[in-house]
Amino acid sequence: MPKITGYETHDVRFPTSLTGDGTDAMNTDCDYSSAYVTLLTDSDLVGHGMTFTIGRGNDIVCTTIKAVADRLVGKDTEELFGNMGKAWDHLVADPQLRWVGPEKGVIHIATGAVNNALWDMFARSRSKPLWKLIVDFTPEEFVRSTTFRYISDAITPEEALELLKAKEAGKKEREAKVRELGYPAYVTSAGWLGYSDEKISRLTKEAIAHGFNHFKMKVGADQADDLRRGKLIRSLIDDPTLLPEGVSPRDPESDDLKGKNAGPTGSVLMIDANQVWDVKQAIDYVQGLTEIKPWFIEEPTAPDDILGHATIRKALKSSNIGVATGEHAHNRMVFKQLLQADAVDVAQIDSCRLAGVTEVLSVLLMAAKFGTIVCPHAGGVGLCEYVIHLSLIDYICVSGNMERNVLEYVDHLHEHFYTPCSINARGRYNVPSNPSEGYSIEMKKESIAEFEWPNGTYWQGRRKSEA
Ligand SMILES: [Mg+2]
Repeated sequence: MPKITGYETHDVRFPTSLTGDGTDAMNTDCDYSSAYVTLLTDSDLVGHGMTFTIGRGNDIVCTTIKAVADRLVGKDTEELFGNMGKAWDHLVADPQLRWVGPEKGVIHIATGAVNNALWDMFARSRSKPLWKLIVDFTPEEFVRSTTFRYISDAITPEEALELLKAKEAGKKEREAKVRELGYPAYVTSAGWLGYSDEKISRLTKEAIAHGFNHFKMKVGADQADDLRRGKLIRSLIDDPTLLPEGVSPRDPESDDLKGKNAGPTGSVLMIDANQVWDVKQAIDYVQGLTEIKPWFIEEPTAPDDILGHATIRKALKSSNIGVATGEHAHNRMVFKQLLQADAVDVAQIDSCRLAGVTEVLSVLLMAAKFGTIVCPHAGGVGLCEYVIHLSLIDYICVSGNMERNVLEYVDHLHEHFYTPCSINARGRYNVPSNPSEGYSIEMKKESIAEFEWPNGTYWQGRRKSEA
């Protein structure tokens, strides 16, 4: 059986700050980056993983990945694959490294990269895309692959087993259905703060033409400006004449759209503040935006402030605006409390802020038990490639629903991956189906050579031109 013999890491940074891609009220200068790891074995089998950062500090994550990946060197892969929950426990249980977390911050996102690389290796070893590996698990295997430590007051392994068994019967039909239709998605690309009105209009119209019907806009820098941009976007997404040929308006009162403040074409607008406000400020600011009828406000305040989110949600109920958060929720315990405190309408897991697939599975189970929908965070670099797998697992074997869910999609940087995600003509994610793509995160060798920081050809050239 192959043994893990070592690893390689790469600090890869893309100069997205030059174009304003990814700008919001908090993150004004992003160079989308990947702290990338490849686990090596004494056979041809490898596993790729990464975590996402926005530039400076990516080197710190790469250093930390090495400390975490060291724990796997010498391990037998089949033993690890036989109990992925136990393998994850081992990764987070270093008696000294634990002090620099525990289970939060740099150490945790580094653990996410390593755990994701191990899952990628597992999927490759079985010649299945990651989602398919997991949806073919028995409920017992699924439960064994995740962790219940610190969350058993919200869900026990026995409850998880029962929940998964109840969903067994419909798995085949759901898999066939999502392969045919694709998984619902929404676009954020049109609504970055750094874009001109002309660019926003053009990108919104393009997104409508691609079949999208959920759109997200960044807010929080200037209320009057947000209102103006929001009205601009709404005027386009609510205009039935812009719908692609053959597409009729969706019923805003249908089960899929009810409660989402959909307009006359069935289009939905969401807003995202990226944590800029205090609690009271968030309530006042968002109440001033009711005219543009958002479905939810995303990350209204500090990501650790569970009770603050609950207060905001309660206050915005009368305006019929929901609350979403999770891309900076650093572990399953934060999600547990958000759910227990009734603080969110939508749980937005992040594929590599949580410590990889193993921890994500535990949040999917908890959210299903609480009846809260999961709409993963994506964008950045590599995140869209990752999250389609997670939403497929959620739909096919955990929640059993997808039509109220929407998975974030941003049309940036997919060209750097060997098996990039893709969107169909209905504005939905296609199902990854290449048996050798694992978790779809293998980055092209030439992209690494060009954008590795500080000595890739792009960064060298830029230093020369600046000198
Ligand atoms: Mg966000």
